[in-house]
Amino acid sequence: MSERAERYLAEIGIAVYKRRGFVAEAASVRAEPAEPGPIERVAAEPQPSVTTPEAWERLAAEVRACTLCGLHKTRTQTVFGVGRRDAELLVIGEAPGADEDRQGEPFVGRAGQLLNAMLRAIGLPRSEVYIANILKCRPPGNRDPQPEEASHCTPYLSRQIALVNPRAILAVGRISAQWLLQTDSPIGRLRGRVFRYGESGTPLVVTYHPAYLLRSPLQKATAWTDLCMVKELLQKRA
Ligand code: SF4
Repeated sequence: MSERAERYLAEIGIAVYKRRGFVAEAASVRAEPAEPGPIERVAAEPQPSVTTPEAWERLAAEVRACTLCGLHKTRTQTVFGVGRRDAELLVIGEAPGADEDRQGEPFVGRAGQLLNAMLRAIGLPRSEVYIANILKCRPPGNRDPQPEEASHCTPYLSRQIALVNPRAILAVGRISAQWLLQTDSPIGRLRGRVFRYGESGTPLVVTYHPAYLLRSPLQKATAWTDLCMVKELLQKRA
């Protein structure tokens, strides 16, 4: 493991112990990529792949003006997405929280900082990925999104996926994973495997939400194996 990766792991809160010239990891930490499990194909609506700046601007304007579900009444602003429009990795979360609603950007605040550190640990600064949520408006009180809200909002995300055309998708948190994979399986059963999303068969990996990791730091080591799986997918030739 490189010194840089070790430094970032320490930042995340994962201890790595060095002994006698080799790296011995903490018992519960598996810092090497996990063996990808069975690959499962997930259906999604076919989307046109028009990647012009005009297509992005048109989509962003539609989201800004959207009143398709009741969440438009309580939002401060929509949270469209952020990052590199031709990113290799697309990170998909659940919905904006209070900080995101205020700042208009997904994954800010403490959970966002942890996500950034996790991405840096696999060599991907935040600026190199694209980050979006399933919902573009904050559910009041940070409640779970309702199915009809997600149904109304998902076409925007589908268009973002088609525009970015990533080589891999990281679904962050239970709600995101269950919605994208159209399953009610617990997240513990969804992570540690590679799914194929949509017509393009984009590899999709599930991991825990950083807000959960802040509450359950022992799971950080598990999340690290998910991130290593993503890194391995990106390193493979397309
Ligand atoms: S959550 Fe999505 S569908 Fe609902 S108002 Fe916001 S942008 Fe529109």
